[in-house]
Amino acid sequence: MGLLEGKNALVFGLANDKSIAWGIIQAFIREGANVGISYAGEMLEKRVKPLAEKIDCKWVEQCDVTKDDQITSTAESAAKHFGKIDILVHSIAFAGRDELSRPYYQTSRDGFKNAMDISVFSFVALTNAFLPHLNPGASIMCLTYGSGATKVAPHYNVMGVAKAALESSTRYLAYDLGPQKIRVNAISAGPIRTLAAAGVGGFRDMYKHFADAAPLRENVTIEDCGNLAVFLGSDLSTRMTGEVIYIDSGFNIMGVQVSGKEEKSE
Ligand code: NAP
Repeated sequence: MGLLEGKNALVFGLANDKSIAWGIIQAFIREGANVGISYAGEMLEKRVKPLAEKIDCKWVEQCDVTKDDQITSTAESAAKHFGKIDILVHSIAFAGRDELSRPYYQTSRDGFKNAMDISVFSFVALTNAFLPHLNPGASIMCLTYGSGATKVAPHYNVMGVAKAALESSTRYLAYDLGPQKIRVNAISAGPIRTLAAAGVGGFRDMYKHFADAAPLRENVTIEDCGNLAVFLGSDLSTRMTGEVIYIDSGFNIMGVQVSGKEEKSE
């Protein structure tokens, strides 16, 4: 029997088969969950619908999280289809390309607001909209990049600031929802080649450096994120809430980063 047998899980933020959301969806299906998928806009429909068909997913809804009415109608539609929800995954982020390449102090007001709205406030808004439809013991999770939230990751800029706010929101939401036995956690993934990552200046170098410097000397995959999401969604993590959990080959524990390659050549 799968770890998520009988659980209803909704995953927001599927763009294509490289998305972290796709790794999570596949792991949820493997563990027996009933999965619903939400995606941002019409542009994505032709990539998302075939993926949904592949896993025989019957609830596939478009939701632009900058629109309150879309969040409300998506929550109502999910409740109609699934009844109560057990797992809610927020795998959404956005910042304009300019904000992720020039110095942080040149961040525009609109760019700042947009990044915070889509990458942070949406997590709060989705939680609020879905709360009446969540089972006690439900698990809510988001995706962060802790190395850019708590430290400096060059070019990550406003997204790092947004992730710091997202991690803080995770703790505040965990406090608010604790009495209802609803848990809220964040998955902090190492760099993965996805559409969103492609917008970060210098991502390719960061990705390479990561595999050289991390204790496990390898990059993280969307399957790794899926497996951690299964743990957080399952009853195995029943008394964990408000946590930021790293899945990054150990990169974040390093105080001084030395390339594994350099070490070998010494
Ligand atoms: P991705 O496949 O591009 O997923 C990001 C998703 O956010 C896309 O589906 C995107 O849709 C969606 N989104 C953007 N604006 C939206 C809006 N207004 N309404 C609804 N959805 C919207 O990239 P990903 O790397 O899997 O990102 C998923 C999460 O993981 C993000 O929170 C990201 O910051 C986090 N993360 C990624 C990495 C990494 O290295 N890849 C590492 C740590 C954490 P559009 O394509 O239409 O914009």
